Amino acid sequence: MIDAENWFTEVEEKNGAAMSLRLRRRLHAETSAYQRLEVYETDGFGNLLVLDGCIMLTSRDNFIYHEMMVHPALFSHPRPRRVLIIGGGDCGCLREVLRHDSVEHAEQVDIDERVTRLSEQFFPELCESNSDPRAHLHFEDGVRRVEEAAAGSYDVIIIDSTDPVGQAARLFSAPFYRACYQALGDEGVLVAQSESPLYHQQLMASMVGNLNAAGFAAAAPLLFPQCTYPSGWWSATLARRAGAAREFREADAQTIRGTRYYNADIHRAAFATPQFLRAGG
Ligand code: SAM
Repeated sequence: MIDAENWFTEVEEKNGAAMSLRLRRRLHAETSAYQRLEVYETDGFGNLLVLDGCIMLTSRDNFIYHEMMVHPALFSHPRPRRVLIIGGGDCGCLREVLRHDSVEHAEQVDIDERVTRLSEQFFPELCESNSDPRAHLHFEDGVRRVEEAAAGSYDVIIIDSTDPVGQAARLFSAPFYRACYQALGDEGVLVAQSESPLYHQQLMASMVGNLNAAGFAAAAPLLFPQCTYPSGWWSATLARRAGAAREFREADAQTIRGTRYYNADIHRAAFATPQFLRAGG
């Protein structure tokens, strides 16, 4: 929604809250086969990508989300070589995955090619690794890609999807998590964006329940700030086929290059669970 004073506002009806960014101008708008896509230049946050009226990313603060969607999961796997990203059409997660020298094959599967083409045009800094020979971009339904994958195809699966509505709803389901479990190797790790800890506790709890039901030995939320998302506080839920959710290659994590939010201390702290989110909290 854009008002007369040229502010973009995403309204959280259920919580009676909103997030507004002052705009300089609209750069692009179109409706693809899957969603409404808009790109704006803002006063204080660089460019802004909006899908179906929801803020997806800004130039200024997307690094927090992309780093936290990728590095805890990859450092939780003993040697991540084959990574699958479901969604993630803006390519920010792909860029972070390719910072890991152990990665030999990074597949990104977004249902909507238009997201990637607009990101290449308006967020080129997120697409700087797209020409890496290890990167493979596909445009199809992520559910089908996982269901068709051979058992043990991947070491890490990253589910960087829109909210659990429309074409993304099935990406939060128990059958999809079962398919992910099968597509992962014995030490496989899955991470899925899991919305706001303040607004979506039930969803977060149901995701952990569905992941455990799918066979994952451990599942736990990672919490981090994301000021342009609803409530300003976001989460990603990490699950492992083997081992404890909090175990990670700490020494290797301390050597990561180029991050601006993630480090080994942040990794450890992100698993700290506030009392209200604990079972019976
Ligand atoms: N960070 C954002 C968030 O937390 O809402 C997500 C950003 S990313 C752009 C979300 C992507 O999920 C979109 O590009 C959308 O096209 C993709 N997507 C939604 N449903 C999908 C599906 N079933 N298969 C593959 N990609 C899907």
